[in-house]
Amino acid sequence: MGDNSTPSFKAADLVIQLSSAPKSKLDVFAFGTVFTDHMLTIEWSLSGGWEPPLIKPFENLSLHPACSSLHYGIQLFEGLKAYRGDDNQLRIFRPMLNMNRMAKSARRACLPAFDQSELLECIRQLVEIDQDWVPQSDSVSLYIRPTFISIESSLGVKKPTRALLYVILCQAGSYFNNETQAVSLWANPKYTRAWKGGTGDCKMGGNYGGTLFAQYEAVGFGCQQVLWLHGEDHQLTEAGTMNIFLHWINEDGEEELATPPLDGMILPGVTRQSVLELTRKWGEFKVVERYLTMGQLCSALKQQRLKEVFGSGTACMICPIRQIVYQGENLHIPCRDKNSRLTSRIATELTNIQYGRTPSDWTILV
Ligand code: PMP
Repeated sequence: MGDNSTPSFKAADLVIQLSSAPKSKLDVFAFGTVFTDHMLTIEWSLSGGWEPPLIKPFENLSLHPACSSLHYGIQLFEGLKAYRGDDNQLRIFRPMLNMNRMAKSARRACLPAFDQSELLECIRQLVEIDQDWVPQSDSVSLYIRPTFISIESSLGVKKPTRALLYVILCQAGSYFNNETQAVSLWANPKYTRAWKGGTGDCKMGGNYGGTLFAQYEAVGFGCQQVLWLHGEDHQLTEAGTMNIFLHWINEDGEEELATPPLDGMILPGVTRQSVLELTRKWGEFKVVERYLTMGQLCSALKQQRLKEVFGSGTACMICPIRQIVYQGENLHIPCRDKNSRLTSRIATELTNIQYGRTPSDWTILV
């Protein structure tokens, strides 16, 4: 949380300039292609501190060609969603967790601190202004993309003296309603997404640009995503841009839901945290954060101890995994019938919270 000692912009100073030419909202657009009518921008400089936040018509940025976010990747982003419930209310899912993760990424990127609650209130007002972009439908939500970039206009690799925080919005499909397709993963230990002491636990653009090559190799081998491994023992870390979970009978014969621990290499997913909290509350099986290796997964598969494997993330929420291609072998992961799957049960509970059917303090009203 920001506190009074963090110099920050204030939502009370927000300046709002409404668009005089709003776009048609009748079509539903492909993810990330068409943005809503407004954006939030907040500028910072070392000499002047934070400027008042501004909501204005969506427009291109004008950047100096030497801008250090373009050259050295001094930037970060977030991703969260707002959902329109059956009661017509818009809800944002656990946004303070994203604000908190954004503040941590900013610290690591040497970008300035801000008050997280003030940013959330500015975002809430932006979403409120563009709320007509979210139809009352389980299959559409509003994706919120806060972005924070250095706009330092010199080629030195140094701490920025100027920065721009902005937030844009676009529609996103809610995968759950279309019954999320189980995916196949390509696990090649020659690639690694993150390493100890690196920035894998921050949401910085460089973590993603660097994965494209492996992602296309995965697609070339008929898989949808990369299963990111780490270390000599081929530890499972993440699946594409999702955290990974194994539901199995562990080596000691106990039913367990397991995901790798937050050791600096794992992005601390909001969905990951929600799955852990939800299943711990059920109290029906062991829920642990532990290292998981491909060797352990293969033995569990052979001994028929593996029940389900799934990914978690804001984009698809819970995504079942049906196959892992590893060292020339196709590992077929059990995918139980949809009514008995743990993935379906978790997805239903989370959707009910997001759409306001289950009252919860995990959402804030817009
Ligand atoms: N891992 C990575 C690498 C990601 O980019 C994401 C998406 N933010 C996640 C996991 C899932 O995080 P969340 O549940 O907060 O969307």
